[in-house]
Amino acid sequence: MPVPESHEFFIDPRRCIGCNACVQACTECDTHKGHAMIQLDYVDRGASPQTVPVVCMHCDSPTCAEVCPADAIKRTGDGVVQTARKPRCIGCNNCVLACPFGVPKMSTGMNLMMKCDMCYDRTSIGKKPMCASVCPSQALFFGTREEMARLRPASRVLNVFRFGNQTITTRVNMLVPGQAFVESLDVLSALHEPAAGNDAAENVLLDGMEAPHAG
Ligand code: SF4
Ligand code: SF4
Repeated sequence: MPVPESHEFFIDPRRCIGCNACVQACTECDTHKGHAMIQLDYVDRGASPQTVPVVCMHCDSPTCAEVCPADAIKRTGDGVVQTARKPRCIGCNNCVLACPFGVPKMSTGMNLMMKCDMCYDRTSIGKKPMCASVCPSQALFFGTREEMARLRPASRVLNVFRFGNQTITTRVNMLVPGQAFVESLDVLSALHEPAAGNDAAENVLLDGMEAPHAG
């Protein structure tokens, strides 16, 4: 059974409380017991304690799969990019280096690239991913855009990211402030933006928004 087209993954960094419940839940999943396929990153370490969960963004044109010389990474018809297939992966690390979101990890013990596959065993039978099912603040949410619009009327969803000249569309959506006109998230601009106070969200430069002013 495919993952229903109406159901998508949503990440709201402003809601992440850094509790690690998602990481713990992912570790306990049957398909990769003991290994977390999600990680918590600091949005702006040093200036803010704000954390953000990082999962595979399930790109429409996954760079990881494009650079894989062994054809080990499969994107299913319902838009989920699977972890590398064990008999094929040669552990070359190409996907690890190529992913613009820094997602895949090499399991040196198994000589296998592993990453989030959106809990395909669960989502393909109508369940939520492990992380989204335990997140107490719903920074991770799995459901429909209609549900999201009702639950977060002040936010908008965004699934287009720019890295220089490369534009990537993803099956995973980020939530951004609703008042700004945003077409895509310019990741490189956000990285180079100087820190301004403790509000990490202000440090992300969005299309159509002016850069935040310090002070
Ligand atoms: S986020 Fe990285 S690992 Fe996930 S599909 Fe895109 S390129 Fe592949
Ligand atoms: S590490 Fe495995 S999945 Fe990644 S590019 Fe190399 S062969 Fe492909």
